Amino acid sequence: MEKLRWGYGEPVCPHCANIGAYFIKPRNGETRQTNRGSGTQRRLWTCKACRKQFTVLVGTIFHGSHIAVRTWLLVLFEMCSNKNGIAAREIERKYGLTPKSAWFMTQRIREGMKRDPLAGMLAVC
Ligand SMILES: [Zn+2]
Repeated sequence: MEKLRWGYGEPVCPHCANIGAYFIKPRNGETRQTNRGSGTQRRLWTCKACRKQFTVLVGTIFHGSHIAVRTWLLVLFEMCSNKNGIAAREIERKYGLTPKSAWFMTQRIREGMKRDPLAGMLAVC
């Protein structure tokens, strides 16, 4: 995902748009402790300019959700690939989510599709 978002260059800070950040190396291998106490493999960065921390998910529709990114991507794929779209009910059943989570995901994905760069890709030019 980092490669998709930033290419092969340095990460771009979602807070101040500065290019360049320090990678925060986890103390024990790949996994680091979150401030809630659980382990995570999400890679954390500190902006070289504003010193704020971020992961690749900040500023995306996937940010701040307890649903696994893998599930998000699967649902996104289903919404895009199915000719008739996919009902929140079906997502709920298939991925074992609550109705609220399934509805939230479909809403958030649709919201993302309305904005750039996705919206721009559908432009008539
Ligand atoms: Zn910054």
